Amino acid sequence: MNLSPNTLLAASGAIGFSVLLIVAFLRRPQKIQAEKIAVLFIASGLLWSIGKTFSSFDGIAAPNLWANITLHSQILMPLIFGGLMLVFLDKQKYQYWYAALASLIFLVWLAWHWNFGGIVESIVPYFPTLSLFESWWLVRQSLISLTWLVPFSLAFIAFFQAWQRHPQAQYRNRYWYGLGGTVFLLAANIVLTFAPAQYLWIGMIANIIGGLLIAYTCISYYPTDLHFILRRILQSITVTMSISVILFLALSTAYLFTQWQVPPKNVLWWLVAMALALGFILPVIIQSAQKTFGGALFGSSDDEIELIRAYSQTIKTDWNFYLLSQQALQFILKEMNIPRGAVFVNEGDGTGHITVKLAASAGLGTPPSQQFNADNPWIQHLKNQKSPVTLYDIEMLYQYRQMDAENKRWLTELGIDTFVPMILRQNELVGVLALGAKPQHRPFSPHELRQVQAVAEQLALDLDKARLFGQLGTVNQKLGALSEEFETIDQGKTDFISIASHELRTPLTHIHGYASMLLEANAEELQDPKFVQEILAGIAKGSSRLTSVVDLISDVSKADFGKLDIMHGLVNLDEVIKEATDDQADALQERQQTLIVSGTSQLPNIDGDGARLAQAISHLINNAIKYTPDNGTITIAGREFTDDTDDTQWIEITITDTGIGIDPADKARIFSKFYRVDDVAYHSTSNVKFKGAGPGLGLPLVKGIIEAHKGKIWVESPEYNEETCPGSQFHVTLPVKHPETKDEPSKSEVSLSGAETRRWTSRDMAIIQEKVNEKRATQTPKTENQP
Ligand code: ADP
Repeated sequence: MNLSPNTLLAASGAIGFSVLLIVAFLRRPQKIQAEKIAVLFIASGLLWSIGKTFSSFDGIAAPNLWANITLHSQILMPLIFGGLMLVFLDKQKYQYWYAALASLIFLVWLAWHWNFGGIVESIVPYFPTLSLFESWWLVRQSLISLTWLVPFSLAFIAFFQAWQRHPQAQYRNRYWYGLGGTVFLLAANIVLTFAPAQYLWIGMIANIIGGLLIAYTCISYYPTDLHFILRRILQSITVTMSISVILFLALSTAYLFTQWQVPPKNVLWWLVAMALALGFILPVIIQSAQKTFGGALFGSSDDEIELIRAYSQTIKTDWNFYLLSQQALQFILKEMNIPRGAVFVNEGDGTGHITVKLAASAGLGTPPSQQFNADNPWIQHLKNQKSPVTLYDIEMLYQYRQMDAENKRWLTELGIDTFVPMILRQNELVGVLALGAKPQHRPFSPHELRQVQAVAEQLALDLDKARLFGQLGTVNQKLGALSEEFETIDQGKTDFISIASHELRTPLTHIHGYASMLLEANAEELQDPKFVQEILAGIAKGSSRLTSVVDLISDVSKADFGKLDIMHGLVNLDEVIKEATDDQADALQERQQTLIVSGTSQLPNIDGDGARLAQAISHLINNAIKYTPDNGTITIAGREFTDDTDDTQWIEITITDTGIGIDPADKARIFSKFYRVDDVAYHSTSNVKFKGAGPGLGLPLVKGIIEAHKGKIWVESPEYNEETCPGSQFHVTLPVKHPETKDEPSKSEVSLSGAETRRWTSRDMAIIQEKVNEKRATQTPKTENQP
């Protein structure tokens, strides 16, 4: 058997395609459409080269069969190539149209070739000027040309569009391979269709190279960087050329020496000297070639340690998290000559979610935070592989296809090319260093990526340190606030002891005084009912005052624990307010103050404890009286409103005065126990005197009562000013229906405000009791308040 060069060529093509087919099967799960079509394309190439190999043997059995296999697979190859390129270049949406068109062309070709249904005889007469063979040949060649003209035109259009769409280095590199393969294949098809037999080998070589290149491009996502190959070749050529020139000069001089009859020993010395010189010059040549061609390829910095040193010198802060991120980012961008990038930090909440939040950015604006699941493939890669991920990976690789659409959109719209993980303690993802494209979309070399990774690791450490610093600062601040609070509480306690002792001592002194009078009275005095009644009234008043103080202290401490006893029943707020104002009638009169009540008669009944509410409002009115100079005005207003967020009905009562006002800094504190704005020296047992402060327990109790009704209390006042008297406005809101009671309050079941449940009286118990009895007599309640 005679092995022609063409046979060897076809056989090597067959080996090449077989290898690629095996690689495609071994390496790829063929889940992506382009991979499936690539396998088909390689198979057609393999079929063509096998056909070509066997048909070129002389004396092979069934030579026609092999020739037909070659011919048809040669037609099939470009047709499949067209489909492959459409999918490869993101034009999937046309793939079915193209499949239909390609099948049609192939079927017409088959029909013509095998003369199905006498198609040849029916077409040939249309070419009357040509012979039968000539017209058959013309149609045949046109059909063959169509089988590659159509796919190649489409492929070039798709290439053009994809090129515009993807400026990233990895895409472009892959497109270069694809374009190279396409040009080879096109040349092959032109030659195989039109060239005479003796030039067929050119077509074969082009077909094999083109087919292998296209197949390699489609099954490999990371074809070797062409710039890299180009620079390597240039580097080798430069070194080889330089050595050749030196050797040529050395040897030709040696040759001339022998011509000039220089003794052979001296020629030998010359050669030795030249060899030595070469030994010294060679490294210099290699180094400078590397610098010229490799320098641009590998970046300018020398190594990681050098870079980290430069980094440490650049960073000027070690505790400000954001400043640190910004400085580190600026450093890397400058070092790598990248116009934009960002530092994102992991704000994981420990629930498995990872929230990526911007810490610093350059040229990117302020991308919003994004939440990822722990099993997100991007997070998984960064965390487990601890190596950079490119946008190209995310767009190309199979594992990212299942990624959450929102996450993917966020990643692709950032305008970032490469994501470098910042890993701490082996597997803690502190954040991500995101880098934009390099100028002219040059790819990051592996060396550069290692450098960036080293800086990212250093940054992770520094950020961790900064975070700890930050935490320490917060703890410090909290400690400071706590110690201030402790001081206030401590002061409050001291004040309380002095106020309480005063508050308790006054009635005790009263009781003690009257009791002593009784003790010292003679028999005659004891017989005088007026004298005895006066003494007993004095003792009763003193003990009543004592009870009220003790009750107040006990109520406030109960309110503190949320254990204030609150009755539930229907409460008419108008009555409650009337009762509270009655309670303060004397004080109002004594201080010559005007009270205006409006909007309270329309208020719906609410669910609650009337006595407690009267107690609270009475105290607020009392404060208004106390902290307003004589002749002031106190206004009580009521209104009903709906909370739009949950459609609940509410009542608001506001108590406004024209008094001295409250400093904004005191607004919250006045509701805390024992807190009084003024000095303890202002303390007074009188509940009428201007600025006569009580024990500082009133507002805490009021707050406790309102909160036990699920209501809210707050104060509004522009400032504290005794000259201008800006006034204060206390707001109380109460839900119409207590959230914990099921029944709807109704107007028909209005009870008394429940004065019989009152435990705290600002005045004589006896007077209160009288009032209660009066009310009982005039208005019998239908339902009793539920305990
Ligand atoms: P006190 O028993 O001292 O009145 P409160 O708890 O009722 O205690 O009030 C606490 C502090 O709040 C008072 O000492 C006073 O300084 C301030 N305050 C309360 N109500 C008013 C008001 N209507 N106008 C100005 N200051 C007020």
